[in-house]
Amino acid sequence: MENQLFWLQGDQTVHPILRGRRTADAVVVGGGFAGLTIALWLCKAGLRVVLLEAETLGSGASSRCLGKASLLGGVSYARLEQRHGREVSAAYGLSQQNAFAALRELATQPGADCGWVEADDHLTGLERDEQRLGEELQAMERAGVAAGLGKATQSPMPADFSLTVKDMALLHPMRYMRWLAREGERLGLKIYEHSRVTSMETNLAGTPRGSVLAPYIIVATGYPIVNTPGWYFLRLIQRQSWLIPLNGEAQFSGIYGDWQGEYALRRLGKGMLMHLAGGRVGEKRPVHPLEMYRQRYAPYLENARASHAYGGIDTYTADGLPFIGPYGKKTPNMFVACGFGGRGLMGSMLAAQSISARILGLSNDGDAIYSGQRRGDGFLMPQVQAGLSIAGHYAGNLFRFRAPYCPHMGCKLRYRPEVRLWECPCHGSRFDDIGHIKNAPATRDAVIRYRRRG
Ligand SMILES: Cc1cc2nc3c(=O)[nH]c(=O)nc-3n(C[C@H](O)[C@H](O)[C@H](O)COP(=O)(O)OP(=O)(O)OC[C@H]3O[C@@H](n4cnc5c(N)ncnc54)[C@H](O)[C@@H]3O)c2cc1C
Repeated sequence: MENQLFWLQGDQTVHPILRGRRTADAVVVGGGFAGLTIALWLCKAGLRVVLLEAETLGSGASSRCLGKASLLGGVSYARLEQRHGREVSAAYGLSQQNAFAALRELATQPGADCGWVEADDHLTGLERDEQRLGEELQAMERAGVAAGLGKATQSPMPADFSLTVKDMALLHPMRYMRWLAREGERLGLKIYEHSRVTSMETNLAGTPRGSVLAPYIIVATGYPIVNTPGWYFLRLIQRQSWLIPLNGEAQFSGIYGDWQGEYALRRLGKGMLMHLAGGRVGEKRPVHPLEMYRQRYAPYLENARASHAYGGIDTYTADGLPFIGPYGKKTPNMFVACGFGGRGLMGSMLAAQSISARILGLSNDGDAIYSGQRRGDGFLMPQVQAGLSIAGHYAGNLFRFRAPYCPHMGCKLRYRPEVRLWECPCHGSRFDDIGHIKNAPATRDAVIRYRRRG
């Protein structure tokens, strides 16, 4: 397995580190799809915007992306309708179509060079899944989204039926992000890299060497780095998944995936690219992703060869909808965009549209669907694990145990030797061998104490 991703190859523009105090109209924290799209939209609205990125642009989940932008997958329209009613499902369908149209317009502008290609998106199932796929099709139609159900004649994996949405898209994630950054900078966006935000108030974001004072703060760090208000750490989990490039010619066109979200497959250049879903970060995963590929999928892709798996993580909510909007009830000027559940390209565009509209004082009925304050839907496991781990942390301090703890909320870290990472089982922060932080919600390094040998 490799940590350096093939999408990252190519020229990278270097941005400075934030030093000293700056002022702006809005500060965006995080330089992935969400942060960059929101920053660009705010610049278009005429705001002076500063973006602070902990590492380099795209160093989080956004470069670990298959590059699919589609109305299909992630949220089930049938389940959404059952849970929240037809009105919500229709508003969701409309907001998704608006986001897709905006994404297409942006990514196909002259000079964009994002590798945008149109492709039909197919979710496949076996004979026994026909009814399930049929229900999904009907719910999509009621929500105003055009789809079709037919025999899966071209599917590269065993499948009897496929639910298809035509003219969806594939793009090159890194080229798309570079385009967002270039466009933003053309409109005055100031980007700072290697500037991790370690402290935050409602109008001030602080890094180790500087700070930005701004009336609006947008947290787009994948997993939100501020625990309260919002209590997102009780309502989000981080899941691992893998990108596996395959040598060998694709015998299909479009994008194929199974309806349960276990895999997705696209063409890439002369080969293919596969997305394999993994488990929750911190869980024990006995099967290596390449082994999983060889056991489950390789027999059907005869000429394809896999040699590397690139790991990435994304945040998931319990109901499948992202959290987009004010951070908490009492923080109307501080926003969050997270929980994209493997659909960050669409989610980021929704976030950009929704947050910029709010800042401009425009109302949008669709906002309530994605609100971070919508009811229910917490995940039980992270809450239980956090409780036990925090109790363990205090007991450990008392008795001087030497196990490393996550600086976010004190959960005990687990070491994963195959990727040489320490992982937090409660909220998914990860650290390298020596405790250097790899991803949110933690904002500080972990202290790893090694026992002296001999
Ligand atoms: C294998 C895989 C395949 C995927 N395929 C697709 C796909 O085909 N289509 C799709 O739409 N989505 C896909 N996704 C999901 C998508 O990649 C994510 O939803 C999306 O990238 C999330 O974007 P983001 O900006 O919220 O987070 P990120 O890209 O993680 O960006 C967050 C940024 O915030 C920075 N940050 C963190 N903490 C701080 C801090 N304290 N201060 C400053 N900066 C900070 C990080 O360094 C990071 O750069 C896939 C995900 C994976 C893992």
